[in-house]
Amino acid sequence: MRYTIRIDQDRCRGESICTAIVPDNFVMSASGKAEVNRNTIGEEEYAKHREASRLCPYYAIALQAQE
Ligand code: SF4
Repeated sequence: MRYTIRIDQDRCRGESICTAIVPDNFVMSASGKAEVNRNTIGEEEYAKHREASRLCPYYAIALQAQE
């Protein structure tokens, strides 16, 4: 299974929680909001991305299973 990750730029407030949990994929942009390096991940990376999504105080991170 592969997953698509999206960060809602309107919801993100730059709390940097996601970048602390998954520093190799969530990064802060010059505008002070989080971005993803890779918007598609595999099963082996799902758990830590799911944790970042769960802990984002603004529900800005969406993970969607690909068909
Ligand atoms: S944890 Fe949420 S609010 Fe904080 S930088 Fe990441 S996406 Fe943005």
